[in-house]
Amino acid sequence: MLLPALYYFYLMKRILSCLLISLSAAPVVANDSLTLKKMSDEIMLRGTCYDNLRVLCKQVGHRLSGTPAAAKAVEWGQKALTVAGADKVWLQAVDVPHWIRGKETLKFQFGKDKTPIEVPVLSIGNSIGTDGKILSSPLIMVNSIDEFNALPAEKVKGKIIFFNYRFRQDIINTFEGYGDCGKYRWTAPNMAAAKGAAGTIIRSVSTGLDDAPHTGSMRYADTVKPIPAMAIGNTSADMLEEKIKQGTVTAYMQSECRMAGTVRSYNVIGEITGSEYPEHIVLVGGHLDSWDVGEGAHDDGAGCVQSIEVIRTMKALGIRPKRTVRAVLFMNEENGLKGGLAYADSAKAKNEKHILAIETDAGGFSPRGIALDMGEYEREQITSYRNLFLPYGVYDFAQQHGGADISPLHKQGVPAAGLVPDPQRYFDLHHTANDVFEAVNHRELKLGAFTLTALVYLVSEHGLKSANVQP
Ligand SMILES: [Zn+2]
Repeated sequence: MLLPALYYFYLMKRILSCLLISLSAAPVVANDSLTLKKMSDEIMLRGTCYDNLRVLCKQVGHRLSGTPAAAKAVEWGQKALTVAGADKVWLQAVDVPHWIRGKETLKFQFGKDKTPIEVPVLSIGNSIGTDGKILSSPLIMVNSIDEFNALPAEKVKGKIIFFNYRFRQDIINTFEGYGDCGKYRWTAPNMAAAKGAAGTIIRSVSTGLDDAPHTGSMRYADTVKPIPAMAIGNTSADMLEEKIKQGTVTAYMQSECRMAGTVRSYNVIGEITGSEYPEHIVLVGGHLDSWDVGEGAHDDGAGCVQSIEVIRTMKALGIRPKRTVRAVLFMNEENGLKGGLAYADSAKAKNEKHILAIETDAGGFSPRGIALDMGEYEREQITSYRNLFLPYGVYDFAQQHGGADISPLHKQGVPAAGLVPDPQRYFDLHHTANDVFEAVNHRELKLGAFTLTALVYLVSEHGLKSANVQP
């Protein structure tokens, strides 16, 4: 640790050297560097995203699509965007699935023990329940999909299958680990159902060294008869693994979860109209819905308040962007993506010209980079801004997936980008009761908001030139 005065000197030197590199690259970039510093000051000193997150988490709370809380979140978003100073705020209707969890319990009986023990559990989102009845069967454990595939159907029929696959701690990018482990949530219940199993339990898709179960989405294949699917925390899964090695384990599943039709809900949209090219839209967004546990703070309250902060910061600094800057709070990312799909359909019907869509849905942690999912020509332009971001610790500009909500827009050919925060803690918290406001750091959240504001500003000022079109 350097002494404070020395550290200040070091920091100024770093900012100046970045500025000089920028100056030598292009004069316009020097102005950009100063504008970015003003944006950073505005957000770090007077930003309101952390306060907005507190209100969303504490006064609305978790907000699964179709619930009264989700409707309250829509009102909150509308108000927050208005207070931020958006020129226009409106709602876009979207019909969303309404899944209800109800009561749920999971117990295990070991060998000849008389009393079953209960463990913390969460049904996987969109799963059917047991109609509140007890579903009991000997538990069959498999450690991988390959191991499951090797089981003859008669061993699976009528049994509860425990998929004991661990989130791989050796994969450093946890989003890669999530992709690897997530298939046990998305597809294992279908595989088990296809072989005639009565139910499934998975080890949570979680890096956490605790017993918090992680929920999340799954979808039944049309070809199978749905069976109940639950997730248990890592500690319970470890215990179960040991007990199964010692002898028979009987599982008792009980749950009331069910789909309850479709509910009318909304995407919340606010924008600053562009001064020179109002028809060119730079979109930044996160999702307003969350799972029905915790407070949806990192996932994705953080992304919502950061997107609103982009609008607020530009207004507070009197910046009139050349292109339209639009913040979108998407509904139903978690268990249907209906908001993202409705937005893209509407954009197509209205022939709207999105020059870039940016998503922030990877947690409110320190920003490290910007994921770029676009052609090489556009990617080169955004990567050329790297020196402007370096003083803020943002260095990673790799070709990566932008995000789920903007993926339908991306399929229409819109360049996509995503905020890349430090990924190490996200999957300890995501989709659990622990994803609460207190788990978000105010400085880290604000730095993410700054990164988005800077990117939105640069693209709204300079456009995004593709190989064939010159916006
Ligand atoms: Zn999310």
